[in-house]
Amino acid sequence: QGDSKDFDTETETVCPFCGVGCKVSLKVKDGKVKSVEGINGPANEGRLCVKGRFGFDYIHHPHRLTKPLIRRDDAPAKGLNVDPGNLGTHFREATWDEALDLAAKGLVDLKETHGGRSVAGFGSAKCTNEEAYLFQKFIRQGFKHNNVDHCTRLCHASSVAALMENVGSGAVTATFNQIENSDVAIIIGSNPIENHPVAATYFKQFTKRGGKLIVMDPRGVGMRRFATEMVQFRPGADVSMLNAIMNVIVEEGLYDQAYIEKYTENWEAQKAHLAPFTPEAMSEICGVSPDQLRRVARIYANGKASLIFWGMGISQHIHGTDNSRCLISLALMTGNVGKPGAGLHPLRGQNNVQGASDAGLVPMFLPDYQSVMDDGIRKAFTDVWGSDDFSNEKGLTVTEIVDQVYAGNIKGMYIQGENPAMSDPDVEHARDAFAKLELLVVQDIFLTETANYADIILPASTLYEKNGTVSNTNRQVQRVRPAVAPPGEAREDWAITTDLAQRIGLNWGYTDVSEVFNEMKLNMKSLNNITWERLKTETITYPSLTPTDPGQAIVFGDGFPRADGRAKFTPASVIAPDEAPDAEYPMIMTTGRQLEHWHTGSMTRRSLVLDAVEPEANCSLNPKTLRQMGVEPGEMVRLTTRRGSIEIMARADRAIAEDMVFVPFAYVEAAANVLTNPAIDPYGKIPEFKFAAVRIEKVEGQ
Ligand code: SF4
Repeated sequence: QGDSKDFDTETETVCPFCGVGCKVSLKVKDGKVKSVEGINGPANEGRLCVKGRFGFDYIHHPHRLTKPLIRRDDAPAKGLNVDPGNLGTHFREATWDEALDLAAKGLVDLKETHGGRSVAGFGSAKCTNEEAYLFQKFIRQGFKHNNVDHCTRLCHASSVAALMENVGSGAVTATFNQIENSDVAIIIGSNPIENHPVAATYFKQFTKRGGKLIVMDPRGVGMRRFATEMVQFRPGADVSMLNAIMNVIVEEGLYDQAYIEKYTENWEAQKAHLAPFTPEAMSEICGVSPDQLRRVARIYANGKASLIFWGMGISQHIHGTDNSRCLISLALMTGNVGKPGAGLHPLRGQNNVQGASDAGLVPMFLPDYQSVMDDGIRKAFTDVWGSDDFSNEKGLTVTEIVDQVYAGNIKGMYIQGENPAMSDPDVEHARDAFAKLELLVVQDIFLTETANYADIILPASTLYEKNGTVSNTNRQVQRVRPAVAPPGEAREDWAITTDLAQRIGLNWGYTDVSEVFNEMKLNMKSLNNITWERLKTETITYPSLTPTDPGQAIVFGDGFPRADGRAKFTPASVIAPDEAPDAEYPMIMTTGRQLEHWHTGSMTRRSLVLDAVEPEANCSLNPKTLRQMGVEPGEMVRLTTRRGSIEIMARADRAIAEDMVFVPFAYVEAAANVLTNPAIDPYGKIPEFKFAAVRIEKVEGQ
């Protein structure tokens, strides 16, 4: 901690990691961030986790990209083969003019030769709302189609699909802080102690006040220590378990008939659908006793105000949309939406995945989830943009774009701040695809695994070096401000995209990021009453109903934004995971994050404190499983699935079921996504990261 003599400047901004969106104050001395403190934001009230508090030093890491780079004519064949400390064999430094001219010429040449669909883009949930908006506009206006997406496809796309379908809006119905007004909460498929640590502090306080917490997860995640009920169910058995809980609520008459009649539709079909899902019939499938299923149903339904939180454990399945449909039905049948302490809250992962999705960085929606298929909506945007119409077809998603790259139909890509060579569900396939691209323009802060395949690299900024807004999991819009300048010649992402847009012939004239925000407001009702001026001093939760309203923490108290104002029950049937364990691959692999590391590791593995705590790729197995295999904790095991094989250090963890292995996905040297199953949910198009059949062997001769 510094006192007034220890620093030159102090800047208030937002943590760059998870969707909690903690407000922070950065103390800077001699152009370097010296310390980060939590300040009084609505989501964190001064609290920070280890990532926010100590994980900032990556921004000054010597690997930061400081100059535009162009692949050398005599570079080795593209592959995962570039040493970030020695780029010279592969890339040469260039001026901004040269790099941007070359990128623009390459993109325009592809468009003219092969059509606009030969170019696609991935934007980033780590960039600001304004940068996400500009990125989707770049593809839609510049190439006349909707083949633009970002990592929401890999996290909550299925949750959003179910929420849009049944509630009429993809965002949370209540802030997580509303747990202060709850007496019951469910946390399912989420590990907030590691993934949303500051939110977890509110959840712990809730239990200390006597709130009843139901934790449901195939892993015995950390919140189990605070749980009234820990339900450790079979991986992939979510729908059978949730339907059984709803069956009890119906059978015991615990549903809210008045709420159902006033605010919902399709209840009779849902009720009839649930009849066969008795606790006895579902118990063996989901691995939960009928007694516990009944207890959980009664606790949840008898709560005066019950909240449901969920994470990737729900969404990352081929039945992820069905999982979310069940949670929505559970809340609707008990009237637990739209009142204090009640609601539906998918905990968003990246710091701005909510905002990037709101800003239209998805292939099926323009900003504010307005359909690309609606002629009037497209016209409203092209009128503002001063440009021609673009495709009325939903675009391709992240994994579909990679497949089209592999097939040779997409020949050029612009990738801003995403790392699909680590995050794609079948990374070997993705890496092979990127090696085939005729032109790959990567805009990032480090030479990521994806940038290894680039032809042109544009050095960009961290969140601590930029101006704009971000929106957290609570729908809270907050200003970010630069605490330090980007290193060398690196620039803010919105400015780079603007320069590139001008060079491909677009009529962009932004000179300040506030101009982008003001343009967004023209077609985004969610930003009504939220102004750049207000955001200088306020955090505002959308929707904000008046020019002075701080925003609505709870929505849908009096109907839903669907055609008839009613939410809908969509019955969900049991769909087995795509791969069943068998004699060759007898165990189940699931993946996720660890407290200290963030996504593909590009930032946190360059943070001294965080990487010192978790320096090595590791997986977790039950101690009994390790004993049966003759493996000591700390020894190496080989994990093999139908996609590939990795060697990784094994840890003992009693919270893991005996037939499971948990693999964090932040480590390039043992990349979990070499193994994961790319099969996708048909609605949200999200891959089944949470379930793959795997074989585990001890690595001999260690
Ligand atoms: Fe940052 Fe999330 Fe930790 Fe808050 S909880 S400090 S937003 S990583």
